[in-house]
Amino acid sequence: MKGLQVAFVLLALTSSAWSQGRFQQDTVQTAKGPLVMTFIGHASLLFEWNDQVIYIDPSSREANFYQLPKATMIFVTHHHGDHCDPAALKAITTDKTKTFMTPLAHEKWNQGMIVRPDQTLHINGITIETLPAYNLEHKRDNGQPYHVKGECVSYVLNLAGTRILIGGDTENTPEMKALRDIDIAFLPMNLPYTMTPEMVADAAKAFKPHILYPYHYEKKALNRLLELMADEKEVEVRIRRF
Ligand code: ZN
Ligand code: ZN
Repeated sequence: MKGLQVAFVLLALTSSAWSQGRFQQDTVQTAKGPLVMTFIGHASLLFEWNDQVIYIDPSSREANFYQLPKATMIFVTHHHGDHCDPAALKAITTDKTKTFMTPLAHEKWNQGMIVRPDQTLHINGITIETLPAYNLEHKRDNGQPYHVKGECVSYVLNLAGTRILIGGDTENTPEMKALRDIDIAFLPMNLPYTMTPEMVADAAKAFKPHILYPYHYEKKALNRLLELMADEKEVEVRIRRF
């Protein structure tokens, strides 16, 4: 019984009041205080840091966003429905929210700033870099990649020196593999749209994030990823519920 009680207290301590234990959360320390990361589901993430409430790809399939905190910043990686959802954006947007999205995503929401690959921005005390997110191998029957180079982005957010890669829908591209000094990486792992476990491991072994979170994943791929990463001691693979 005692063990159960201890587990309950720990869970309560790591859960924000609004979360009420609905989502898994991790906290990491940055040079400017704690960063609380909430894993909402699939590709939807929430970062709370230094008075900023930052959402990535909010999608109503994963949560009722009216029950979540309002956004100060929103980053949308691309236009597909599991990443760019006007209903979820509406639920968390106020007149102070700064939203960033690709041109095709902007056609669906018509608000905020348009971003393209290879940009660097400085907003709300955060440095934001973009890189292209695209498929090298996985294509539709007509030969078009699921994600065409130039149309979708990955983001690197720099929170007081803690650098976080949000993969978006991508494969193990040369641009991603050339990244350095990434503390936390979120990499997608579902087929046919994004990466195999082999591709995720190849990318992670190239740029060696301190922490790797597979997200946008198929459960059946998780064990294979853990096997492939077992010999890579510099990267901690964290499996969370998405
Ligand atoms: Zn997509
Ligand atoms: Zn997707």
